[in-house]
Amino acid sequence: MRTLVWFRRDLRASDNTALSEAARSSPKGVVGVFVICPEEWRLHDDAPVKVEFWLRNLRELSRVLEGLRIPLKIVQATTRRDIARLLLEAAKAAACDRLFYNHEYEVNEQARDQSVVKHLTKAGVECRGFHDHVVFDPATIRTGEGRFYTVYTPFKKSWIKRAEEDKIEVHPVPKKQEATGIAPDAVPERVEGFVSAVDAALWPGGETHAMKRLSGFCERRLRAYKEQRDTPSIDATSMLSPYLNAGVVSPRQCIVMARDANGGRYDDRAPGHAGGAHWISEVIWREFYQHVLVGFPRVCMHRAFRPATERLVWEQNPEHLQRWKEGRTGVPIVDAAMRQMNTMGWMHNRLRMVAAMYFTKDLFLDWRLGERYFMQTLVDGDLGSNNGGWQWSASTGTDAAPYFRIFNPASQSKRCDPDGEFIRRWVPELRDVEGEAIHEPGALPGLLRQRVEYPEPLVDHDVARERVLRAFKGLDDRAQREA
Ligand code: FAD
Repeated sequence: MRTLVWFRRDLRASDNTALSEAARSSPKGVVGVFVICPEEWRLHDDAPVKVEFWLRNLRELSRVLEGLRIPLKIVQATTRRDIARLLLEAAKAAACDRLFYNHEYEVNEQARDQSVVKHLTKAGVECRGFHDHVVFDPATIRTGEGRFYTVYTPFKKSWIKRAEEDKIEVHPVPKKQEATGIAPDAVPERVEGFVSAVDAALWPGGETHAMKRLSGFCERRLRAYKEQRDTPSIDATSMLSPYLNAGVVSPRQCIVMARDANGGRYDDRAPGHAGGAHWISEVIWREFYQHVLVGFPRVCMHRAFRPATERLVWEQNPEHLQRWKEGRTGVPIVDAAMRQMNTMGWMHNRLRMVAAMYFTKDLFLDWRLGERYFMQTLVDGDLGSNNGGWQWSASTGTDAAPYFRIFNPASQSKRCDPDGEFIRRWVPELRDVEGEAIHEPGALPGLLRQRVEYPEPLVDHDVARERVLRAFKGLDDRAQREA
């Protein structure tokens, strides 16, 4: 019995459930495979920076697997429809009678996997999927009535209860196997159409690097995380999201290391501390949004979680959309955030909230357009967390911000970047603006304002706020009339 392990968003050898299970139960060894399908990536708006990151990690993975005598084959699929046929050919060529993989929870990915399983099973190849991208099978955490959670806090309570009952364990790296006589394939340097200008050195590949990032974070920054996490000028967060999303590090590895650094606790009860508990709760947000994908698949299909909000008539303003994308809205904190993302492929969490809230509430643009641009630009772009974050900001989602709680971007700016350090780093034309004016340069007195080459804000926040309140209130009134 020999097993083909299909790597997808689990680009690591350590703590990889499908790989561990395959290695444990395959007397004739394991062969790895990765499918390159640019059509699928384009369809899902996967960013070039993310694809380049995948390739870097694949090269590292291939090297690590080679040390275990597991060859990694690379399959090139022109269309998604070819994937099942090509995987069967790969299985036959490597004399594998089983295909193992770790589940992905998006609707398209699940449909693709079903067709692969159907095709291979028919040809006599046994297929098995494992839950690995999240700590617990997302469909198994339910309310007392057996429903999927729609609110984060009770989900988190259930999740922690389960974590305290079931021991969370990390799988070891498989042992070196007997040689298969199969040569690994070269991982391409690049894939046409996915070339990015982001500096590759920002996001080095490989699980050794990811584990170093994780342990360095737990040792040095975990304790102060709660106080510092909302200040984007400080390196206070782990910056592990690209590694978690590509599966270069597993959520179990993150949770176990943070729990151990938090005195063995998932919360802040002694000997735990606020920093450890808070970081663990952020990783649980990621689990929550995967749970939402499974329980409410409509969110994978550009649909609002709250169907009533589909009736909102968003503004159509291509110029505002473009200026937001480029970081030229005239609101310094939003522009700094957008420029950080355009340059690094990553944006600080507080700023994702500010930029998305500004987009949906101040500009009153359809959240789907903003969600798409994030996906096309982020190295950590992930449907569950991105959609969850956007629908939270737009007040259309699960556990979303109530529509009347609208961020004032200037107040947010003063709170999260009080000295304007982050703004000055990313919006150099404001470098010489002093004091509080850094947050609202439009308010500078005449001559000083003229010296700063920076656009006026696209909209007046107070006017925009009234517009959005009217629109959401209209929905409420209509729902009441129809009730
Ligand atoms: P840390 O603060 O170190 O947190 C640790 C890990 O917890 C993160 O790596 C991430 O996996 C998870 N996490 C933290 N915050 C959240 C959250 N709010 N929701 C879900 N998971 C979280 N995250 C993505 O991974 N991909 C996305 O495409 C994405 N899009 C977002 C869009 C919007 C509008 C918003 C508001 C948030 C989005 N997030 C997304 C969540 C969050 O902003 C990032 O996970 C976080 O900024 C990553 O930085 P970090 O690794 O330093 O996080």
